[in-house]
This record gives sequence, structure tokens and C-alpha cells, in this order.
Amino acid sequence: MESFASQKKDIKSMTLDELRADMKIQGQPSYKALQIYRWLHRGVSSFEEMTDLSKIVRQFLTEKYYISVARVENKLVSDYDNTIKYLFSFADGQCVEAVLMEYQHGRSICISTQVGCKMGCTFCATGLGGFQRNLTASEMLSQVQAAQKDAGVRISNIVLMGMGEPLDNYNQVIRFLRLVSSQEGMNLGMRHISLSTCGLVDRIYDLAEENLQLTLSVSLHAPNNAIRSRTMPVNRKYPIEELLKACRYYAGRTGRRISFEYAMIDGVNDSDGCAKELAARLKGMLCHVNLIPVNPVREAGYQKSGRERQQAFIRILERAGITATVRRTLGADINASCGQLRRKHLKEGGSVNAICRTD
Ligand code: SAH
Ligand code: SF4
Repeated sequence: MESFASQKKDIKSMTLDELRADMKIQGQPSYKALQIYRWLHRGVSSFEEMTDLSKIVRQFLTEKYYISVARVENKLVSDYDNTIKYLFSFADGQCVEAVLMEYQHGRSICISTQVGCKMGCTFCATGLGGFQRNLTASEMLSQVQAAQKDAGVRISNIVLMGMGEPLDNYNQVIRFLRLVSSQEGMNLGMRHISLSTCGLVDRIYDLAEENLQLTLSVSLHAPNNAIRSRTMPVNRKYPIEELLKACRYYAGRTGRRISFEYAMIDGVNDSDGCAKELAARLKGMLCHVNLIPVNPVREAGYQKSGRERQQAFIRILERAGITATVRRTLGADINASCGQLRRKHLKEGGSVNAICRTD
């Protein structure tokens, strides 16, 4: 495997047009670019596997480029519903998590966009671990490919809701979206992709201009600045009024419903008063609220709200005309929320190659 610091070019992050331009410079016919691109998007891990290219071309590619791959470092398989949580490692040894889920309409994967995260949300295991680096577009693609290969399935939906803040790695995330939806690649429709953000307002405006048909999820988790700034430091830079203004703009510009994530934390953001305040804030917006009982992260000391509280909260939102659901939790037995498997791996100080089932 090539080292991360390699001088070679990251070929799987390149668009077909960029590959064509490179081939032209190298004096190769442009149809070769399409052949290579197709191989890369089928998930090959070496140029040797590109069997319809001559040995000379493969040699030349090996000298100039590297193919980034995601290695399965560890995985947890749920006994309830076949949800699989992966810990993937990259060439430099950094690890991220991804979760493969099974729905009636197909398979969905939740992938990471950064190693760690800078945003420091107090309830989040990833946030507690700090930030290491951005992922490249090819490393995002590699998570999808590695899970498909390992599980022997075809993935039909992608959510950018794993470790990291996607809009803090904007260019690589947009590049990934274009690659994965390209006709000659996986050809996945943008309507089958969701992106979740903690609310980087400037980037929400940028994303609106990209005019992609993906679903935008916004992690709101609080109805006002006082609570939100306490649990989500990003709110001190982009207060809730500005965030919701950007969301209204986004929904208007793209015609797409925004999905608000709201992790219910016992005694912090789950009162009737909070529900009423939230309803007032979202009034008239094209949106949906996803309530998630918070996943207790040991260091944070938060507890999830009880079932009755969840129902009372939903009733208040619905009475105000806002659609809301409590999110179905998949893989309840492996429900280390995102970031926890990696934290465990780091604490144990090493490479866990064992495949463990949680029974
Ligand atoms: N950084 C992005 C996407 C990754 S986090 C974001 O924050 O939106 C994915 C989702 O998991 C977010 O909605 C996040 O708020 C939520 N989350 C993080 N820790 C959680 C926990 N302990 N319990 C429930 N949801 C959590
Ligand atoms: Fe980062 Fe999202 Fe976790 Fe906040 S919730 S720390 S933005 S990954």
C-alpha cells in the first residue's frame, strides 16, 4: 500500500474529465481514462487488476498514481437486524467508522468524512476525541466500496453522518458526491444521499448554490441559543437565528425538505417548554424533525429521555403542524454511537484484527 505522504497522485479522487486530461498529457488515448475510471469505481485495489490494460500502461499508472483503499480493521455485527459497524483504516493508519444498515428498500451506509471532528459537541464521542485530519474523496468512496465487498451487497443509499463535519471538509465532500453519482461510477442518484451538518451557516449557503438534490439534515438538538451554545460550541459562531435563516433559504432554493436532528437529553432539552419553543422556531418551514434518544457517551454523563417524554414532545410538535418521528434505532446491541468504536480501539492501543460478534 502506498504511504499517505506519497508523491503519487490520488487517482480515485479524480473525476473522469481530470483523468482524461492527465492521460492526454501522458500521450495516452482518452478511452483509456474511461477504462481506468470504471475499474476504480468497481473497487479494485491495485492496477494489476485492470486486466484489459497493457502491462506497460499498468506500469506507468503504478509509477504516477496510487489507489486509496479502506481496510476492515474491526467489525461488529448486530444480532437483531444485520446492521454492521465497521472500523476502517487507511494508508497512514488512521481509522474511521461506518455503519451498514438494511432497510426494506435496500442497503444504506453511514460514512465518515473526517478523522475526528473540530466541533466539540458535548454529547458526541467523535467530538470528545478531537480532530486528526480530513478524508479525501477517494477515502469516502473506499468506505462504500469496502463495505459492499465485505458484506457482498449493493448499497443504494449513503448518509454522510459518520465521524466528522462534512461541511468542514467541503471540497472533498462535494467531489465525493460528484464521483459517487457519476454515470460511469456508482451512478447513485443524489436523492439517495443525505448530508448531516452541525450548522456551518456559510457553507449551507454554498451548498444551496450547488443545486444538488440531496437531503440536508441539520443537527439542531436545542430550541434556543442558551441550551445550544452549551452543548454545541458551533452555535457561538452561528447562532440559531442565523442557522434557521440559512435553512429556510436552502429549502426555498432547492425545494427540498430539511430534516432536523434532535437528540433528546434527559433534563437538558426535552421539556414541554423546549418543544413549544422549537415548534415556534420551525413554523412554516419545509421540514421534518427526527427525534433521537441521546446515546449516552460515558464521558458526557447525559441520559436519554424516557419514552413518555419523547411522546409528549412529539405531540406538541405535531399539534403545531410540524411532522416529527422518533428515529428507529438500528443495531441496538452494537449501538456504540458513532465515534465510540474508534475510541475503544485507540484506548486499547492497537490494531484489532479480530472480527467480533456481540453475542
Ligand atoms: N457532524 C455532523 C455529522 C456527523 S454526527 C453533524 O453533527 O450533523 C451525526 C449525527 O449524530 C448528528 O446529528 C449528531 O448530532 C448525532 N450525534 C452525535 N452524538 C450523538 C449521541 N451521543 N446521541 C445521539 N446522537 C448523536
Ligand atoms: Fe462533530 Fe457532528 Fe460530533 Fe458535533 S455531532 S462533534 S459536529 S461529529
